[in-house]
Amino acid sequence: MEHVYDVAVIGGGIAGYSAALSAKSLGLDCLWLGEDLFGDKVKRSEYVRNYPSFLGNGVDFSNALEAQRAREGIPFTAGRADGVFRMKDGFAISVSPKMYSARTVILCTGVDLKGKLKGEGDFLGRGVSYCAVCDGALYRGKKIAAVLGAPRFCEEAEYLAGFAQTVYVFAPFEAKFQAENIIPCGGVPRAIEGEDRVRRLVTDSGAYDVEGVFLLRPAVPPEALAGGLKTDGAHVVVDRTLATNLGGLFAAGDVTGPPYQYAKAAGEGLVAAHSAKRYLGRNA
Ligand SMILES: Cc1cc2nc3c(=O)[nH]c(=O)nc-3n(C[C@H](O)[C@H](O)[C@H](O)COP(=O)(O)OP(=O)(O)OC[C@H]3O[C@@H](n4cnc5c(N)ncnc54)[C@H](O)[C@@H]3O)c2cc1C
Repeated sequence: MEHVYDVAVIGGGIAGYSAALSAKSLGLDCLWLGEDLFGDKVKRSEYVRNYPSFLGNGVDFSNALEAQRAREGIPFTAGRADGVFRMKDGFAISVSPKMYSARTVILCTGVDLKGKLKGEGDFLGRGVSYCAVCDGALYRGKKIAAVLGAPRFCEEAEYLAGFAQTVYVFAPFEAKFQAENIIPCGGVPRAIEGEDRVRRLVTDSGAYDVEGVFLLRPAVPPEALAGGLKTDGAHVVVDRTLATNLGGLFAAGDVTGPPYQYAKAAGEGLVAAHSAKRYLGRNA
């Protein structure tokens, strides 16, 4: 039988770590997953001045967190969640090609305020996708665009090329591809346009007629991760217990809004874990 966790914490930053640490101390069976452990927003800090009792730079901070994680025995699963789906008794979390099940979820996915392209939200599910493995087969024989946020997404562009007629690739780094139907393009994507569905990607050096645009970047907008999730701009709407509008789904850290600070993220991770525990008690 498949394993059903009490709680799945998504996001490997401070909020996610604090939620996973608190979940353990509350006796919850927790899956903690994220794209990378602690991540750039911890490692790149020049000097951490405002986290109680800590003095040092981001790398020192990351090392201190790792030492504590090892000592407390908090497992971390590397992976990018590409969908959180409501099921009868909880949630299914897709980390392609795997699926996990959990009775509650805490979203700690941070914010990527530079991420949004004009028109992106309007065509979500109508030609805009964040996951090659989930939606690639829908574009068999069609012209599509792939906007890559990091070199590791080159593999997903190759995967798309297995279905599409042509894949126009936009990447802010030098990228080489094996598939002959991948066309690296020079422009910077500015907007996604269409009518009922996507029709073109507009860049600063011209427009491309496409039926799909894959935005393959580290942060997936929360409303695209969990359908029906109430958001306000880039942020998930939460109450004081960090509950969202979806029963059993909580959010913590930068994803719930400013101030974008480590201490706030850590505090919210803890509160969300306690809220998940209470929710499980009420719905046992
Ligand atoms: C350069 C820099 C320096 C900073 N210095 C300070 C400072 O000195 N003091 C301070 O208080 N704050 C500082 N901040 C702000 C601080 O980094 C953030 O407030 C804090 O990291 C937020 O933590 P978080 O866990 O909410 O989000 P994040 O740290 O952004 O972590 C979110 C994680 O979730 C992962 N993720 C996203 N989507 C998915 C998905 N679909 N599946 C799996 N994983 C996913 C991301 O890859 C990321 O690792 C700094 C920020 C930057 C950029």
